[in-house]
Amino acid sequence: MENIYLELGLTPDELDILDEPRRILAVHFPVQMDSGKTKMFIGYRVQFNDARGPTKGGIRFHPELTLEDVKKLAFLMAIKCAVVDIPFGGAKGGIVVNPRELSHRELEAMTRSYIRAIHEFIGPHKDIPAPDVYTDYKIMAWILDEYERSTGMHTPAVVTGKPVPLGGNWARDISTSLGGVFVLEQAVKALKKKETTIVIQGFGNVGLHAALELASRGYRIIGVSDSKGGIYLEDGLDVNRVVEHKKKTGKVADFEGAENISNEELLTLECDVLIPAALSDQITENNADDIKADIVLELANAPVNYIADKILYERGVTIIPDILANSGGVVGSYFEWIQNLTNDYWPTQKFIGRLDEIMTRSFYDVYNLSKKDGSSMRRASYKLAVHRILEAERLRGNLD
Ligand code: NAD
Repeated sequence: MENIYLELGLTPDELDILDEPRRILAVHFPVQMDSGKTKMFIGYRVQFNDARGPTKGGIRFHPELTLEDVKKLAFLMAIKCAVVDIPFGGAKGGIVVNPRELSHRELEAMTRSYIRAIHEFIGPHKDIPAPDVYTDYKIMAWILDEYERSTGMHTPAVVTGKPVPLGGNWARDISTSLGGVFVLEQAVKALKKKETTIVIQGFGNVGLHAALELASRGYRIIGVSDSKGGIYLEDGLDVNRVVEHKKKTGKVADFEGAENISNEELLTLECDVLIPAALSDQITENNADDIKADIVLELANAPVNYIADKILYERGVTIIPDILANSGGVVGSYFEWIQNLTNDYWPTQKFIGRLDEIMTRSFYDVYNLSKKDGSSMRRASYKLAVHRILEAERLRGNLD
């Protein structure tokens, strides 16, 4: 965070407001285990900034979770919501636990006990959790149920990413990819690219849906990969068949007619657009000079490290940063929240149309600022977001 604030040249008062989260809650709560013994767990919820609206962010179950991680992730959520100009601040939370070591009953009991410990802190107009690492729609359903037990009222808008019959969003699995595709379409137009070949690292939820959506729009996907390796076909892969192959064999490798390649080779393929959609730190000072794409669309979080970012920018590569490229997920959650609050459930086309509208507007907000400042789109995104948050603080009288 410090690096970003320094680069943006904030005043001491502005820094003071953004330096620390607004609220930090740490809880130590009991769970009855299957053995009959009670075990204590540690959980957190951090609300980074709520000047623009209730805070929003995921709940993560991870054995190495620290309060510092949660603070950083809450900050990133505040930035992400401000970049796409939706009325949320940022939050994050979680429990220090390896959920794989718990039975289904223990997982439910732990989730419910955590919510009992934090329920006064969250709410549809205060702070709205969502899924994150090792949490999913089933856990969101328990969160909703436990929260409603404590308030005695139906409150579906307290959490997003819940199952559709409980007011969830049918597009939960595709919002992030679809948002990225809308942004990429504008980038291709703005950069006046004609032929567009695409390489995607990661074929999980985000990478697979991005591949399907891009293929259906006529883009040529020439390479994809997963943790077991990659495949390359210059004429373009039949993505639907790759999905079937992956379902059958558990990997994209050995797809008929395509060449098997390593993940390292995949990243440096000759292509127009490279989409890292797997892990962080995939493009570093070690391979940045070998990247041949003109556009990098960061669907994963932080796939390009700090030094590689500078190298690619110097080389004229356009990086569409994660906080913009993968924000379709939180925009989808915003739509879920609106529908829960109004009880007006939208037809598919309205959902997709509004997502396109927000992603397109956000792309040009960032792109035009980067052109005006002569800066990278990453820097422009942070500048835009930080200024939007500070403007809200100023209007509230918290900043001169
Ligand atoms: P996922 O677990 O469904 O898929 C990850 C994919 O990456 C899998 O196909 C896996 O095989 C592959 N992978 C793992 N290691 C790899 C390697 N070394 N090389 C190539 N591929 C590798 O996860 P996801 O939900 O698709 O998320 C992917 C990324 O997008 C993560 O960085 C996540 O934080 C980010 N993200 C996801 C969402 C969302 O809505 N799911 C939203 C914002 C950001």
